[in-house]
Amino acid sequence: MRKGRRNRYRALLTRLQRHLEISLDSLKPRRIRTRSARYAAALGERLGLIARPKVCAWCRRHGRLERHHWDYNEPLNVTYLCVECHNLADAMVLRAASA
Ligand SMILES: [Zn+2]
Repeated sequence: MRKGRRNRYRALLTRLQRHLEISLDSLKPRRIRTRSARYAAALGERLGLIARPKVCAWCRRHGRLERHHWDYNEPLNVTYLCVECHNLADAMVLRAASA
C-alpha cells in the first residue's frame, strides 16, 4: 500500500471510530446517534469492512441498494435492500418498536 493511500485509510478509520463512539453515546440525542450510525456504515463500506452485494438481500433484484439498520446500536450491522424492501423493513422495525 502506498503511503498516501495508507494515511487516507487510517484517517477514514479514525473517523469511523469517532462516529462509532457518537452512535453509542447514550447521552447524545437520538437523531445525532442515528446519523453517526448511518455515517459509520457508509465509512465501513468505504473501508471494505462491509461488503455491498450486487442484489437486494430480500428480493434479489438488481438496482439501487440502501443500507438498512435493524438496530442503530449496531452501526455496522446493515442489510442491503432495494427501496421497496427497505420500506417494508422500516415498517417492520416501527411496528416492533411500538409493540
Ligand atoms: Zn428488494
